[in-house]
Amino acid sequence: MPEGPEIRRVADQLETAIADQPLTEAWFAFPALIGEQVQAIETRGKALLTHFSNGLTLYSHNQLYGVWRIVTPETELQTTRQLRVRLATADRAILLYSASDIELLNADTLAAHPFLNRIGPDVLSSALTVDEVRQRLLSPRFRRRKFSGLLLDQAFLAGLGNYLRAEILWLAQLLPHHRAQDLTEDQLTAFSDALLSVPRHAYRMRGTMKKYHHEAAFQFEVFHRQGKKCRRCSTVIEKGTLSSRPFYWCPGCQH
Ligand SMILES: [Zn+2]
Repeated sequence: MPEGPEIRRVADQLETAIADQPLTEAWFAFPALIGEQVQAIETRGKALLTHFSNGLTLYSHNQLYGVWRIVTPETELQTTRQLRVRLATADRAILLYSASDIELLNADTLAAHPFLNRIGPDVLSSALTVDEVRQRLLSPRFRRRKFSGLLLDQAFLAGLGNYLRAEILWLAQLLPHHRAQDLTEDQLTAFSDALLSVPRHAYRMRGTMKKYHHEAAFQFEVFHRQGKKCRRCSTVIEKGTLSSRPFYWCPGCQH
């Protein structure tokens, strides 16, 4: 399952392909978009918001099977998948296949959208600060929640998932049964910081894979590293199950 950093990478590629160019094609049922431009593609958890120059926004949520493709406008893809959206400019076309939820929204319906109103701020939004994350952690709604469930709950912060949960807790040296209300000031600071720094680091590093720049890709510290030594304390990493998902941690330095 893709998490926030991977989804933001896809949005970046789509944006690079078609932003700021007049649309020559907007399939299907979006004739109002012809001649308009894509201004930005925003991510909100697993939803993509494609903002157009006429103020409309295309909401798409890929659920399990949706997938975007970027092609030249004349390309016809051979696929058994169902085409749901095709936006083309003179140079590029972006195609969305098999996605379940697609809606064209105006400012009012965007502001009232049930899914977007249910989820928390996106961890990759540059507007989100460590202070806001700390306040959110300590709010009555979230302060008594165990991190095991809290870090998978998109209502807390959108864009987190299973690998980020494990990596954030390792970096902050905490365990999944902890709750915000029980942390010391120092632990709260470290945890609030890790909640933003880990996904942002993953986003940056996954964008510069070895094949492009001969740099290291995002390096997991605990995820999929059971049986290997912790790079911080040399204790052997363990694997278990948490909220029905695999969980990885270091028993030496997470407590
Ligand atoms: Zn360790």
